[in-house]
Amino acid sequence: MTVIVRFAPSPTGYLHIGNARTALLNALFARREGGTFVLRYDDTDLARSKREYADAILEDLRWLGVPPDVTVRQSERFPLYADAAERLKAAGRLYAAYETAEELDYRRKRQLARGLPPVYDRAALALTDEDRARLEAEGRRPHWRFRLDHRTVAWTDLVRGESHVDCASLSDPVLIREDGTYLYTLPSVVDDIELRISHVIRGEDHVTNTAVQIQIFEALGGASPAFGHHNLLTTASGEGLSKRLGHLSLRGLREGGMEPAAVASLAVLVGSSEAVRPVADMGELARLVDFSHISRAPAKFDDGELDALNARLVHGLDYDAVRDRLAGMGIGGDEAFWLAIRTNLTRVADAATWWPVVEGPVSPVIEDAGFAATAAACLPPEPWDAATWKAWTDAVKAGTGAKGRALFMPLRQALTGLDHGPELAGLLPLIGRDRAERRLRGEVA
Ligand code: GLU
Repeated sequence: MTVIVRFAPSPTGYLHIGNARTALLNALFARREGGTFVLRYDDTDLARSKREYADAILEDLRWLGVPPDVTVRQSERFPLYADAAERLKAAGRLYAAYETAEELDYRRKRQLARGLPPVYDRAALALTDEDRARLEAEGRRPHWRFRLDHRTVAWTDLVRGESHVDCASLSDPVLIREDGTYLYTLPSVVDDIELRISHVIRGEDHVTNTAVQIQIFEALGGASPAFGHHNLLTTASGEGLSKRLGHLSLRGLREGGMEPAAVASLAVLVGSSEAVRPVADMGELARLVDFSHISRAPAKFDDGELDALNARLVHGLDYDAVRDRLAGMGIGGDEAFWLAIRTNLTRVADAATWWPVVEGPVSPVIEDAGFAATAAACLPPEPWDAATWKAWTDAVKAGTGAKGRALFMPLRQALTGLDHGPELAGLLPLIGRDRAERRLRGEVA
């Protein structure tokens, strides 16, 4: 089967990590199966959709490493939806209704008060042509409802297994508003048919929509794709993520120094039976996508977990992967500097903290000037390499009798002005003999 999947955000805000989960599950599945990944902008709501957000979505997908193969915009496809609506009307599946929001609200309250489910009573189906003409003469405009078959719709969900929804318990959904604009439900099905979407992978907030949409697929004579509804990501306190509230936006995470592979690994692996771990290679992450391994419970996003993943990824990054970024931050060090500091970083940008320790100026911290003077006298001649630290500290140990922390801490404080930091064996050759000697003498160097 040819796999064609789509990620269908409405461009009304920036993508958050929960949206990234949906995008990645689709894109990586397509990549693994040699399929096509479509980005479909659900921008039928012209008032709320913004070009700026559409551009940002594409930028975010590229940053994550999953650029779409094909991009379509619903706002350019209105004639297809109008045609489908006409076909549904002709088949008696789309009917005009004239109730106002207040009237519907009143009816719902009355039903609830009587202990009845608040389902639309289909009063509009009983309207005669004369009734409709009279309502329109009063200035009312119709909205259009899809007449559901009152039966149970069943499908084998790729994530949730055998699934069914009893459509008799649902209101006939409004597909077209009074002002002629489309709700998401119909255009989505029309596009899924027209683009030959083979699998719809989306959040479980769409399970009920799926039953309705399967009926629309059937009414339009299209084959239903396979469906998979993944669990949703929530904040650590269990709140749903929202584009509108700007929760955990991908751009915020990017600006905060997160590596795309850390974000992608967490977004894909959290809430599944796979261990959450950093996977730097997208092909490998794609091989780990297994819809049947996604759990039913919501997956909690924890920034501590993302920081830890990011750190593990950064610790393994080759110099080539960061060279340009370090240069862009004004960090002059070469590969040796990167290798000396990388395991101390949570973010690549933190490298900026350690460059001044090499380049200076460092204000040395010296508590025992005699000890520092002996250490300075023991500095071997250059050239220095990774073995210099051991040779030097052995000599200082022999000369002062200090060992362990009492030996290493004063050397670190004098050389770096700090009591923590990367292994000095890597930093010492970069600091060099001249600066090391001056710092041991207490000079700012
Ligand atoms: N625009 C819809 C959403 O963002 C798309 C859902 C779907 O994938 O069908 O929720």
